[in-house]
Amino acid sequence: MRILITGGAGFIGSHLCDRLLADGHEVLAMDNLITGSTDNISHLAGNRRFKFIHHDVTDYIYVPGPVDAIMHLASPASPVDFDRIPIQILKVGSLGTHNALGVAKEKGARFLLASTSEVYGDPLIHPQPENYWGNVNPIGIRGVYDEAKRFAEAITMAYHRIHGVDTRIIRIFNTYGPRMRLSDGRVVPNFVGQALRGEPLTVYGDGSQTRSFCFVSDLVDGMVRLLTSDETMPVNVGNPTELTILEFARVINRLAGNPAGIAFKPLPADDPHVRRPDITRARTILGWEPQVSLDDGLATTIGYFRSRV
Ligand code: NAD
Ligand code: UDP
Repeated sequence: MRILITGGAGFIGSHLCDRLLADGHEVLAMDNLITGSTDNISHLAGNRRFKFIHHDVTDYIYVPGPVDAIMHLASPASPVDFDRIPIQILKVGSLGTHNALGVAKEKGARFLLASTSEVYGDPLIHPQPENYWGNVNPIGIRGVYDEAKRFAEAITMAYHRIHGVDTRIIRIFNTYGPRMRLSDGRVVPNFVGQALRGEPLTVYGDGSQTRSFCFVSDLVDGMVRLLTSDETMPVNVGNPTELTILEFARVINRLAGNPAGIAFKPLPADDPHVRRPDITRARTILGWEPQVSLDDGLATTIGYFRSRV
């Protein structure tokens, strides 16, 4: 297949490029580098089946030649960016998704939307199944991301129903691994960077909020399985092993050998209290199951960051 990946120079997007090239596909990575970097794809420069296109998908997208599939990942994803670049986040989720769907319609390409567990907001049902509608504050700090992704899901389903575009929606839960930016602001690069510098880990609030962390190779495998399946309704992909952020900080200090402990900081507004995917649909429809343990995934990630701190 000839596959367009928007957000292809980002953390997940660049791993997806690697996987699809290894599977024998041709890959066009489109990115405006707002939170991504060409460092993530520089190793692919000599590959004849790979091309990088520097473009902002909120502007009209032109791709010459046939396209068999579009995997639409373009969007900042770190909570620190919800404050910093809220309008860009709203635009890429809305205008960017509209443009990417337009390419899918024009080319007759399959379209996969990278959605998020954030569509569930601060969830009142736990763990979260796909038929839960969520609990989102539309005017809160996180609303710019949550509502942009909810709009993206809505317009994806509208293009499916009205224009017959062959669509997929993956709801990605917290994913980590090499190629996250040290300055990204999400919990994994923050904690690993602090641990490797011998600093205390900044736990927000009392650390009782929970998350469930998936290693990037597992996520990418779930994305490819969904793309090649027939499932058009949303599918959660994430690792259901749930722990509190305080427990998570202790795991990272142990693995990195950091004696500096923990420093408590204020909890940001609307920070979800719990998050864990119900992956029954991924298991039954995709035959997908995470393979990488938290200790192994974090050891790999710490190894990646060690040379960059
Ligand atoms: P990332 O910031 O590394 O990747 C996003 C990429 O999109 C970046 O390379 C960025 O430059 C690019 N981009 C942003 N706006 C763009 C625009 N207007 N035009 C072109 N490119 C643009 O983050 P990531 O963690 O790799 O996230 C990738 C996708 O997965 C995002 O859609 C995100 O919402 C989704 N997601 C990620 C997670 C996670 O835990 N990592 C969880 C849920 C959903
Ligand atoms: N968090 C933290 N310290 C940090 C960064 C994040 O305690 O330095 C917490 C954050 O408040 C949230 C969890 O870790 O409860 C996950 O945060 P992240 O920014 O990775 O993304 P989220 O899952 O909230 O979208």
